[in-house]
Amino acid sequence: MNLRNILFICAVFVFYCSKVSANEVFYLAAEPVIRIGLTTNARSVSITTTDSSLVAVSPDEPQKFLATNKISVSARSYRPPEFDVYYFEIPNIASLQEGDELAKDAREATKEKTFVKLDAKTNMWRVRIGERRETVEEANEFKKGLSEKGFETEIVTERIVQPSTDAVTLSRQIQQGGKTEVRSLIKPTGSSQPTSGEISANLREVMVSGASSTAKFSSLKSVAFGSINERAVPVRFNGKAYRGRIEVFVNSRGSLTVVNAVSLEDYLLGVVPNELSLPAIEAQKAQAIAARTYAVANIGQFGKQGFDLLPTVRSQVYNGHSSESRMGTQAVLETRGIVATYQGKPITAYYTSTCGGRTENSENIFEENEPYLRGVECSLEGKKHFEPFLIKTLRQPAKMRDDKNLKLVRLMSLFAVNGFQLNTAQLNDDWFEDEPTSSELSNWLNQLAVRFGKTFPNVTKDSAKPLELAGILAKFVYGDNYANTLLSEADINYQLAFDDAGEIPQNRRADVAILFRDGFFSLYPDLTLKPNKAFSRARMLRLIEQIYQQKKWFPILQTGASKSSENGKLVLRVGKTDKQFVVRADVFLLRQFGDDFYQVKEAALVGGETVNFQSNSLGEVTYLEIKPTTTTATAERMSSFTLWNTNLSPSAVQSRLSRYVRGIGSLIDVRIARQGFSRRAIDLEIVGTNGVFHLKGGKIRSALRLNEQLFALNKRYDSTGRATSYNFTGRGWGHGVGMCQYGAYGLAKMGVKYDAILKHYYT
Ligand SMILES: [Zn+2]
Repeated sequence: MNLRNILFICAVFVFYCSKVSANEVFYLAAEPVIRIGLTTNARSVSITTTDSSLVAVSPDEPQKFLATNKISVSARSYRPPEFDVYYFEIPNIASLQEGDELAKDAREATKEKTFVKLDAKTNMWRVRIGERRETVEEANEFKKGLSEKGFETEIVTERIVQPSTDAVTLSRQIQQGGKTEVRSLIKPTGSSQPTSGEISANLREVMVSGASSTAKFSSLKSVAFGSINERAVPVRFNGKAYRGRIEVFVNSRGSLTVVNAVSLEDYLLGVVPNELSLPAIEAQKAQAIAARTYAVANIGQFGKQGFDLLPTVRSQVYNGHSSESRMGTQAVLETRGIVATYQGKPITAYYTSTCGGRTENSENIFEENEPYLRGVECSLEGKKHFEPFLIKTLRQPAKMRDDKNLKLVRLMSLFAVNGFQLNTAQLNDDWFEDEPTSSELSNWLNQLAVRFGKTFPNVTKDSAKPLELAGILAKFVYGDNYANTLLSEADINYQLAFDDAGEIPQNRRADVAILFRDGFFSLYPDLTLKPNKAFSRARMLRLIEQIYQQKKWFPILQTGASKSSENGKLVLRVGKTDKQFVVRADVFLLRQFGDDFYQVKEAALVGGETVNFQSNSLGEVTYLEIKPTTTTATAERMSSFTLWNTNLSPSAVQSRLSRYVRGIGSLIDVRIARQGFSRRAIDLEIVGTNGVFHLKGGKIRSALRLNEQLFALNKRYDSTGRATSYNFTGRGWGHGVGMCQYGAYGLAKMGVKYDAILKHYYT
């Protein structure tokens, strides 16, 4: 199945997506507003701006300008308003019949409704005339009118309680709202205003208080606070700035929920830098699309609580305006409206910090089995992965068979960059075993003469023979006639105690002896010097090495830690700064394998290697040796979570597991029963005194509280076969499914574009 053809990256907004044919895309009518639940249990909330531009708005109401820069919001019990109403009654009527007659007269004279009632206190009858009046002025006016028509009434005051329209509507909303935990009015009340109805007990209202008169009010509706100058002066909740609005409403606990209602793209500005702060624009663009896709696919995730997403790792980390970054904003803008889709729907865009080298199939960690959430290698495939990091040389690497000559390759390379003539394009055993040419010999000995501050020796073909060489070297090292003068015959004989010492003529014995005494000359394996056999290049080089070492003339190589190299440019951390170096095309390039350095044609610097190098007067690197890093070579190697180690006691393992697996009894052992594609433990077998239990999928990580469930488990046992210690060595950080964030960074550094990064991880 070729899934790559099915995964699309497309724009979700109609106005942006017009070029893509309709069956490939997921359309939203417009940029959605995302509701982020900032707090779900606040008693008191502070809302501020840095200037006095606060506004408040509730459903179905005009925006209120608060004329202040600070308000506080709390919740309090709703008490329906109470007020006095006034009735008009003629008291003290002796009989019902009398009352009926009076009522009839009054009805005809005033055209008002009337009725007769018994006054229980006095046991006499009263006639009430007209409707109730709600103000004292109206009441007095009405009473006066009745009086003018001949009916003297007294005003009877009654106190009544009348819930507001909002209280009735809110009560209905709560009643019909199913499982919602929202206890403020959030839907518009619409045109049909209810005038009566039951109200719920314990209604609470949002109470706003600020310094200005418009900033003091209470509401049964949710109240959203914004800034009229949102871009320049964003609204702040408890001091922290947010784009969009801060909405406050009462929840089922009676406390306040605070929601940031913000447009999708503005929301992402406060997500991307928190989820991926690594400085590579293509990785941040991939992250922006993953985060946008996740948000769109999870609108309503916490709908019961009145918002869509949490600002934490449960959803995506969102820290509002102050966490925005220049590169994160660029990444969001450049991918505006784009989400990743599969068969026309936004994918479940899981992402994980550091996958540990391979991501895992979704069903092995979570319940869902998504065809685009397959485990993949966290790197480009095969050798291609290393291409951007390769340092190359035009120089032919040495071709060696003989172990004992191997070290000479490094030695000759070092001498060559320090002025010693090298007359071959490729080093090999034969070249080292041969005698130096007279041109080489002259050059090499002249190099020594310069170092010793002596005149150039007269070099001939014979100068490579120990007898000739001894004369030249003794002059260099000790000066004229030094050995002759200072060594006694006994000293000389003591040094020259090898088989063919008799072949050394008298006039050379002192020079040869002192060179042996000081460790410059050495013998062949058969205890001979072969005084008249010319030194091979190998012996000459070892001799010069000896001198250089004793005199401490070896060039001290510069040392640095490599940052990953890009396109052949060498970036090294030298001391406390990063420096970029130009590497000469014919650089002597060596790489360590085991204990030895080998000349190579190319070597990858993925970052973290120790390198020793020498550069010429132009600052070009002429010699470079690389000690490979022991850390991972995957794309995610910049993560500090690539390797970790955790030791747990059996009781710790038991207590952690027992929250997820009941009735283990006493823990005996824990084994990895099955591994997934990425070698993550996906089935943990738990052996307890009550039997064998299994813990599967992502719960393994949650239960054990490890960084990752990609681990090797090393245990110790007591004599009864019970594990006595558990050592988890693992890689990675996170759940291991979907896009690896550090891997995305690594790929971006290798020049991979955001769409290819997404397609790599969402296969
Ligand atoms: Zn990875």
